[in-house]
Amino acid sequence: MTKLLADRGALVTGGSRGIGRAIALALAAEGADVAICSRSMPDLQKVASEIEDSGQRSLAVACDVTDAEQVVKLVDQVVDGLGPIDILVNNAGAAGSHKFIGHPDELWERMLAINLTSVYRVCKAVVPQMVEREWGRIINIASVASKIPTRYASAYTASKHGVLGLTRALALELNSFDITVNAICPAYVDTPMTTATIANSAEKTGRSPDEIRQIIEQGNPQGRLITPEEVAAVAVLLAGDSSRGITSQGINVDGGEVLF
Ligand code: NDP
Repeated sequence: MTKLLADRGALVTGGSRGIGRAIALALAAEGADVAICSRSMPDLQKVASEIEDSGQRSLAVACDVTDAEQVVKLVDQVVDGLGPIDILVNNAGAAGSHKFIGHPDELWERMLAINLTSVYRVCKAVVPQMVEREWGRIINIASVASKIPTRYASAYTASKHGVLGLTRALALELNSFDITVNAICPAYVDTPMTTATIANSAEKTGRSPDEIRQIIEQGNPQGRLITPEEVAAVAVLLAGDSSRGITSQGINVDGGEVLF
């Protein structure tokens, strides 16, 4: 049986762990060849091996997606090594929090650079070849913070709102080329990022990590964290040919936390 994404080439940023790893593996399971990038190689190479074990080609590239020159090189390397990028998943991101009074400028700039400007940069490098081929699927891993604010996280919230805005503006511009642009908006997902957020919050509040985790779980209508695989399943759906009519959307994977 032909797989959903057979003969497609994909690039997943931040593919070394967490949501990015799950998406890379899920795209490969559906027949795509998958390039992945992150700043450090060892974990990335492990994921590339897992992709190859599933029978698809893979390429692991060390790249800081906040660096414009590295992004251009990344895209050249992927196109040379694997072929055209049909599916782009902008997943690399980072969390950070601070109350607004006394907010460090460095945190603001870092959040905007990794969560928003990197998406702009990678799209800028990839979109021309999608336009030329008149086919593409761009999937931006945003957040429920793209729609509702997170307390003490003004920079993260602003950056993720920005990703949804960029998603919609780009979708409008690319509509005539069979290129869709969508955002996935997860609530808390069980990944190393959330483990770090829990540890940080435990340190700040004096509560135990287990208590913080429970508070987070209780804040979700389903009383749990989302799994990376649930986010990956939506990415696979959006990456397929049959999802042509779905564009400009911010699709919540959040157990019913946000209702718009
Ligand atoms: P993780 O911290 O578990 O993984 C982040 C990935 O991004 C890693 O591969 C990391 O590798 C990479 N990365 C970070 N900075 C850069 C950079 N400058 N250049 C290239 N790669 C980078 O995060 P998650 O899997 O939890 O999150 C993935 C995405 O999902 C993020 O955009 C996040 O905001 C979003 N999200 C996460 C939620 C959650 O609860 N976890 C909820 C909603 C959205 P390395 O550090 O080696 O570079």
